[in-house]
Amino acid sequence: MPAAPLTSLDRLAIHTFTLKPWDLERCCAALSAAGIGGITVWRQHLEPYGTAQAAAIIRAHGLRVPALCRGGFFPHHDHAGRCSAIDDNLRTIDDAAAIGADMVVLVCGAVPGMPLDQARGQIRDGIAACLDHARSCGVRLAIEPLHPMYAGDRSAINTMTQARQICEDIRDPLLGIAVDVYHVWWDDRLADEIRLAGEQGTLFGFHVCDWRLETRDLLNDRGLMGEGCIDIRGIRALMEDAGFQGFNEVEIFSLWRWQQDQDAYLAEIIDAYRNHT
Ligand code: ZN
Repeated sequence: MPAAPLTSLDRLAIHTFTLKPWDLERCCAALSAAGIGGITVWRQHLEPYGTAQAAAIIRAHGLRVPALCRGGFFPHHDHAGRCSAIDDNLRTIDDAAAIGADMVVLVCGAVPGMPLDQARGQIRDGIAACLDHARSCGVRLAIEPLHPMYAGDRSAINTMTQARQICEDIRDPLLGIAVDVYHVWWDDRLADEIRLAGEQGTLFGFHVCDWRLETRDLLNDRGLMGEGCIDIRGIRALMEDAGFQGFNEVEIFSLWRWQQDQDAYLAEIIDAYRNHT
């Protein structure tokens, strides 16, 4: 079934990193004034405030927080590195609970030179070591598969299938998947994996942006919805058919957009959300 056009902004959330030049307070004020329902907070935007003040600002603007970005980066060559990564994730879970975030998004990590299957084993063990704490805090953990161009140094989890395998190995209702169209749009298993994740109750998050054909930067040149070649509305239909009812989170890293007037950019984002998402 085709997805219905998004007229309301209730289920729109914007990542603070999308509006990187703004601080958290400015982001909250602008999103709230525009009638947007949610904000996904990045740790860089949280740190200058601390969790108590950040939570008060977010609450005062009536915004919901689908996620705190981001945890993960579990694999390391040495034991001390792996332990310190787990400690960092436990603190991130604390921060998420303190600002009322529903989940922590996990960019799982990769180490140059480490075989990917070894990294995946360390990722699985690292996540497993965090789940008791996540449970005590009431925070969910969402594995975000990253496009394979990042397999060398950012994440050894590159497909929905690999994310599902970890979910099936661990089997915990607090562990699921964040589906980011930028990372998974090309995958011929995408429709099947979204359906399976819906059945398994692991569809936690949905991130949107677009894939510009003339990518100028592998990290910081994501497109606004409609600027690229991803069938975003088609993927949203797959998500909703699989039972997803969460936020549509706009997550765009763009060196070019960050140089633009952010108020005008926010208006463009809302337009692209209604017409191309
Ligand atoms: Zn994402």
